[in-house]
Amino acid sequence: FSSESYRDTWAEINTENIKYNVREIRKLHAVDVAVMAVVKADGYGHGAAATALAAAEAGASYFGVALLEEALELREAGIELPILVLGRTRPQDAPVAARNGIRLTVFQEEWLKEASKYASGESLLIHMKVDTGMGRLGLREDSEIASFLDAAAQNPSVELEGMYTHFATADELETTYFEQQYARFSRVVDLVQHLGRSPRLIHCGNSAAAMRFPEHCFNMIRFGISMYGLTPAENITEHLPFTLKEAFTLHSRLTQVKEVPPGTSISYGATYTSVENEWIGTVPIGYADGWLRAHAENQGEVLVDGYRVPIVGRICMDQMMVRLPHEVPVDTEVTLIGSQREETISVTEVASRLGTITYEVPCIISKRVPRVYP
Ligand code: PLP
Repeated sequence: FSSESYRDTWAEINTENIKYNVREIRKLHAVDVAVMAVVKADGYGHGAAATALAAAEAGASYFGVALLEEALELREAGIELPILVLGRTRPQDAPVAARNGIRLTVFQEEWLKEASKYASGESLLIHMKVDTGMGRLGLREDSEIASFLDAAAQNPSVELEGMYTHFATADELETTYFEQQYARFSRVVDLVQHLGRSPRLIHCGNSAAAMRFPEHCFNMIRFGISMYGLTPAENITEHLPFTLKEAFTLHSRLTQVKEVPPGTSISYGATYTSVENEWIGTVPIGYADGWLRAHAENQGEVLVDGYRVPIVGRICMDQMMVRLPHEVPVDTEVTLIGSQREETISVTEVASRLGTITYEVPCIISKRVPRVYP
C-alpha cells in the first residue's frame, strides 16, 4: 500500500489479533471440527486476502464468502484452501466455480437441472442449504429436501460436500428460537442420514453459536464477526467464553490547526459556533470514506494527543473538524477507532454511537481508506 497511498487516513488491521481470535475458537472445539473463516465483504472491511491468510495460519481450513467474485479474489491472491460461496450463484456461472475448486450453496432442484446444461466436466462441489427459521435461503420441507438429494445424487456434474443452515437469533440472550432452529436442523441431518446421503461437512454455527453453543456445531463452524474480534451483540459480550481482541483501528492526521475567537462558526450550516477561544483541527476523513455524518450528530469523539476530543460541526464529504484541548502540530495523529495512551474508542463504542451493530462499522469504511497491515 504505502507506495501507492498519498493520504494520511488509513485503517490499521491487527492480524495478530485475528490469529488470537481464531486460536481461541479452535480451542473451544474438537480437533475434527473445521473452522471456516468468513471473509465476505472484503473480510468485513478488514481486507479479505490478508485476513484469510492470518486465519489460515491460526488454524482455519476453509473460507466463506458471499459472492463468486469474492471467492475468485481469494484464488487470485494464491489461496488454495476450499471456499464456499454462501449466497446463491447463477447456474450458468457454476463452471467458473467448478474450475476454481469453489463450492456453491444450492437449494433449488431446478438449479441443479439448469447448471448441468452448462457443466464442463469438472465436478462441482455443493452445500445444500436448509432454511430452519432464518427465512432467507434454503429448502424448508422434508419432501423438498429428499427430492433435492435424489436429484443431486443423479446429477453427474455435482457432488454434495456439505449441508448447512443459518441461525437468526444465536446472538440473543433468549435461546428458545435458537433451540427450535437447532432441533429442526438436527431432524434434517437425521433425515439425510436415513436416506443414506450424509455429506462430509455439516455446519450451522456462526460466531455467536460457535462461542456460546460449541456442542451444537456438528463438524464445521462459520466464524465471521468474532474472528475480527467483534462481538455479535453487545449484551452477550459478558457471556462469551473468551475475551475478543478487535483487529480494526482507524487513523488520520490533522491537516490544519487554528485558534478561533468566540463566535466562530464551523462547517456547513454553521451549526457549531465557538463559545470561547478554541483550537480547531481539521481531519481529512468524511462521509465518502464511510465516516458518516451521524458521528457528529451523535456527539462523536476522536483521540488526539491521548485526549478524547469532540467532532464539531457537520461532517463533510472528505473532511471534518474537531475541537482540540490545546494547540498541537499539523500532522498530529488522530485516532478515530483505537487507542492512544489511556484512552480507547472501540468498534463497539462506535457501533453504539451510530445505533447499529459492530458488523456495519468496518464494512462501511470505504475502499478509499487504505488498509494497512503493520
Ligand atoms: N454464515 C452465513 C450464511 C452468513 O451469512 C454469515 C454472516 O452473516 C456467517 C455465517 C457468519 O456470521 P457471523 O459474522 O455472525 O459469525
